[in-house]
Amino acid sequence: AQDVSYDVTCRFIPDLGALMCLTDVTPMEQAGQMRRDFVANVSHELRTPLTALMGFIETLRGPARDDAVARERFLQIMDGEASRMNRLVGDLLSLNRVESQERVRPGEKVDLTGLLNSTLNSLKPLSEEAGVVLNLTTPEAPVLIVGDPDQLRQVFTNLIENAIKYGGSGGVVDISLVAQERDPALRAPSARIAVADQGPGIDPIHLPRLTERFYRADSHRSRELGGTGLGLAIVKHILNRHRGRLRIESELGQGAIFLVTLPQGNVTGL
Ligand code: ADP
Repeated sequence: AQDVSYDVTCRFIPDLGALMCLTDVTPMEQAGQMRRDFVANVSHELRTPLTALMGFIETLRGPARDDAVARERFLQIMDGEASRMNRLVGDLLSLNRVESQERVRPGEKVDLTGLLNSTLNSLKPLSEEAGVVLNLTTPEAPVLIVGDPDQLRQVFTNLIENAIKYGGSGGVVDISLVAQERDPALRAPSARIAVADQGPGIDPIHLPRLTERFYRADSHRSRELGGTGLGLAIVKHILNRHRGRLRIESELGQGAIFLVTLPQGNVTGL
């Protein structure tokens, strides 16, 4: 769902005794173009694994029919391609869900320390498999915000999954939570969560576009690691719903830091 507003300019023409109104349809055109681009991207992303699957089915029917070893190898690849399509559809549904919700409602009191701990626990098998150590630092006192716990969990899951995925084996991912009495930008109490990895980093040229749907800094690596190109777009939408912000700091060869700021709002009012 895309909100589109139009600029309408009206002028009274005394000679004709009529009111002439002009509507600027540029926003509508832009929304239409965005929709067309999105459909083209989704079709392309789905067609790639689909083409691979069709090719392997053909091979299994023909040349590999009687070769048990090749058959097993191809089935494994097909399994991977089907999982990729499944992840893509899952991410599309998540994106659709967060985009179609006007705002977070009803707000729930969320303890960020607890949420980060349980997110890390559920990512443990993935980090162990990747040979990555997850290191969490939180303050003693609970840090509370008002929000949707499932959506916030998705934000941290996506960021930490990326840090594990791109950080590479043998690395450490540092996750830290701090409460700020008065955030200089928000001019209100906030919670800041940083996810820092020791991976190859990101060329700063890509940073401004990284949260766009399907934008990838390194397409080859993203696909190789099973990325859908939608994770950060989902993060951005959820943070917008929570009036939060995402800042990305990185340079090539220097790892990457994803910094989330969330307003603490009136947590006592609930
Ligand atoms: P993907 O599914 O491709 O990982 P995301 O939307 O999560 O999609 O991320 C967009 C792009 O940002 C990725 O393709 C990758 O190029 C880059 N990226 C995200 N996180 C990191 C990271 N921790 N280190 C390096 N690059 C990253």
